[in-house]
Amino acid sequence: MSQEPVKVAPSDKDDILICPFDEGHSILRSRMAVHLVRCAPNHHGSKKVNCPFNITHICTITEMKIHVNNCPNRSAFEEFVNPDRLTAPCMLPHEMKGEIKCSENWDDGPDDPTYNPSANCAGKYLICNPQGNPPAVRRQIRDMERLRFQRNNKF
Ligand SMILES: [Zn+2]
Ligand SMILES: [Zn+2]
Repeated sequence: MSQEPVKVAPSDKDDILICPFDEGHSILRSRMAVHLVRCAPNHHGSKKVNCPFNITHICTITEMKIHVNNCPNRSAFEEFVNPDRLTAPCMLPHEMKGEIKCSENWDDGPDDPTYNPSANCAGKYLICNPQGNPPAVRRQIRDMERLRFQRNNKF
């Protein structure tokens, strides 16, 4: 495998590009990106910059300021970053925001009274013995609950 760039005769039609780093490099357009990956490290001092729209467009900073306004890849890039300008109908995430439709409205529900745990327990045969009381108090509460149950003939 030779590392030398492939030389293609000019008669071999089509797109032969000159390497931006070395005029001696004639590169097929389709191979330019691959070539630049290998060639660029050899020309770190060249002060050349990549076009933001196409990595195979390389020129000096001064030239690039002009190039970016005329780059043939610019329109494709702008369509990519500004999808609003696309004419094709497609569902984009930013179009999905806004009001979320929901058939359920909790404000229209029945006017339930606020839940009261104490009242809820009082009417039922549940032992309510709040934790965190000293043992004597808990025993007292337990006795009261037993009395309440007996009053209701539950035992
Ligand atoms: Zn080159
Ligand atoms: Zn460009």
